[in-house]
Amino acid sequence: MTALLEGRAAIVTGAAQGIGLAIATALVEHGARVTIADLDGDKAAAAAAALGGAARGVACDVTSEESVAALVSGAVEAFGTLDVLVNNAGITRDASLRKMTLADFQAVITVHLQGTWLGIRAASEVMREQKRGSIINISSMSGKVGNPGQTNYSAAKAGIVGMTKAAAKELAHHGVRVNAIQPGLIRTPMTEAMSPEAYAATEATIPMRRAGEPDEIAGVVAFLASDLASYMTGAVLEVSGGRGM
Ligand code: NAP
Repeated sequence: MTALLEGRAAIVTGAAQGIGLAIATALVEHGARVTIADLDGDKAAAAAAALGGAARGVACDVTSEESVAALVSGAVEAFGTLDVLVNNAGITRDASLRKMTLADFQAVITVHLQGTWLGIRAASEVMREQKRGSIINISSMSGKVGNPGQTNYSAAKAGIVGMTKAAAKELAHHGVRVNAIQPGLIRTPMTEAMSPEAYAATEATIPMRRAGEPDEIAGVVAFLASDLASYMTGAVLEVSGGRGM
């Protein structure tokens, strides 16, 4: 039987650890060749080496127009095509409105919104010519329900939903699908930074009564990347153990 993503080439941003690494791993397991992009190029290269010959690791800052352009052109040069882009890179700078600085606000907006937009723009240039492509943007349940202490992050993640739908409408007739995933609480280095009290309080609000694992997001990404999702575009999938439904 042919693997789900046989012959496909993908880029995953922020993929040296956490959810991005799980996504890159799942895409390789389903037959794709993957470019792992992260701020730390050495960490990206090490993550790729652990996945074997189907992956390559490169340094990329998703907030930089030049860096994202080089990421996409390098990936096309290496693999001859670009079929899947996962805009996953992200940061948090949590603080109450009284304590959040303008720099905290701008950093989060820039990585998530500018980073995702630069990725969509660069990848769609290639994909529209090929008449085929799947772009998957990692939003968050925080962008649906809003979390206290995350006015910056909730705004950015809600913005990714609007961006996903606008891009989906622009690109649908070129054969390029654009979808988003809203993870709930997932066990990664990002959430390990939460206080144990905040983590436990969040976990208690989840109908499934547990945090999710990175590979439970990765499976949904593999589905959206594949032809199993060939009639889906502009969709926003909640992967949250039922939290925020
Ligand atoms: P993570 O463990 O912190 O991983 C994020 C990765 O993105 C890190 O390797 C980080 O590098 C990289 N990154 C940050 N800024 C970047 C930039 N400008 N350019 C390129 N790479 C950059 O986070 P995660 O939990 O796996 O989160 C992955 C995505 O899922 C994020 O978009 C996050 O908002 C979203 N999400 C996570 C959860 C959750 O519960 N974990 C829930 C909903 C949504 P450095 O380590 O060097 O900064």
